[in-house]
Amino acid sequence: MDEKQPLKKNNSNQLDFIIVGQGIAGSVLALSLIKSGYSVCVIDKQDLSLSSRIAAGIWNPVVFKRLTKSWLADDLVSELIRFYEFFEKEMNVSFINRRYILKPFSEEQEKTFWLKKAELDNKFLDKSIYEDFQLTDSYNIKSYSKVMQAGNIDLPMFLETTKKYISQYHQLIEESFDHHNLKRTEDGVTYQSVIAKNIIFCEGHLISKNPYFNWIPFKPAKGEVLTITCIGLHLENAIFNKGFFIMPLGNNTYKVGATYEWENLNDTPTESKKQELIAKLNSVISIPYQIVKHEAGVRPSVIDRRPVVGCHPEFSNVYIFNGFGSKSVMLAPYFAKQLVNFIQNTSSIDSEVNPSRFTI
Ligand SMILES: Cc1cc2nc3c(=O)[nH]c(=O)nc-3n(C[C@H](O)[C@H](O)[C@H](O)COP(=O)(O)OP(=O)(O)OC[C@H]3O[C@@H](n4cnc5c(N)ncnc54)[C@H](O)[C@@H]3O)c2cc1C
Repeated sequence: MDEKQPLKKNNSNQLDFIIVGQGIAGSVLALSLIKSGYSVCVIDKQDLSLSSRIAAGIWNPVVFKRLTKSWLADDLVSELIRFYEFFEKEMNVSFINRRYILKPFSEEQEKTFWLKKAELDNKFLDKSIYEDFQLTDSYNIKSYSKVMQAGNIDLPMFLETTKKYISQYHQLIEESFDHHNLKRTEDGVTYQSVIAKNIIFCEGHLISKNPYFNWIPFKPAKGEVLTITCIGLHLENAIFNKGFFIMPLGNNTYKVGATYEWENLNDTPTESKKQELIAKLNSVISIPYQIVKHEAGVRPSVIDRRPVVGCHPEFSNVYIFNGFGSKSVMLAPYFAKQLVNFIQNTSSIDSEVNPSRFTI
């Protein structure tokens, strides 16, 4: 990373964008803006919201209930690969793990339905059924198939390298942003000594404290995950999913999750959700394992389950990039591109994600 020329060095006093928050949303957006030649200052106090730091980083283009493709799956998957591959090269690191999702079958009917959908209209479903002894024996299942073109982003690696990249070539301030100190004029915004043309808020579920956007009906969902060590799970290229996931981290370590809760919206892990995950894990494996970590975070979900991307209805230099719920890894690159195109006047924002779908 040291010897490389950055995409664009920031030499001006007035920046193009202040971005508040460096979770998945703020990181993907900052990099997308930098790629298009804009200068940015990112303001982030990491421990205010842990969601991106504890998430598994999985992308899955299939809705399991009906075996349909998830919303915009074709476009989202191709854009996410383009985006993360570009920045792997730019930052000279590796954070994409291409994996299949192992979906076990409990009943014969499920297999028939899977094969029908795979044949008819869902290219992400593998057309084969597998019964290999090693995996079926480990998970106490009879057969399974695979969701293709899935995987996970190594989020600790992605977030940390992005942070270094921004602080090296642009500006990064590691402190809490106080909305009351933001000065807004026709020409731009000023925050302490930072002068910029625009500001974009990417604060995750803490958007509820933002006086510019607290009218958007968010419905945040708390989630918890365990990290375990276990020998004999045989999941090198796969993520197991049976209403919960087991995802390999390397060195016989796995992430197990995740839970959902719409109350007690904080980053504190609870004993009851730990027991819920242990029960799920014990229902599929019978070999010994050790729990080495237990973490929690809050997903910034919106009441209509769509992101919120675009401009404040009254202030044209104040933007929001948020509401990615449980799918930020997959949604953020596509919608960051859309927001950059909108800023460059080359396309509009989808009405489904525009904040103007809600009334202030
Ligand atoms: C258990 C769990 C598992 C998950 N698994 C997946 C998964 O496998 N795949 C997937 O795509 N998604 C997953 N998610 C969802 C994903 O974590 C979220 O969609 C994502 O983290 C949202 O990113 P964000 O950047 O919008 O918000 P956040 O991650 O909350 O980031 C916001 C950032 O802004 C900072 N901030 C907020 N307010 C201020 C302020 N006033 N001043 C300074 N800084 C501020 C915060 O500290 C934080 O660094 C999971 C979530 C949970 C809880």
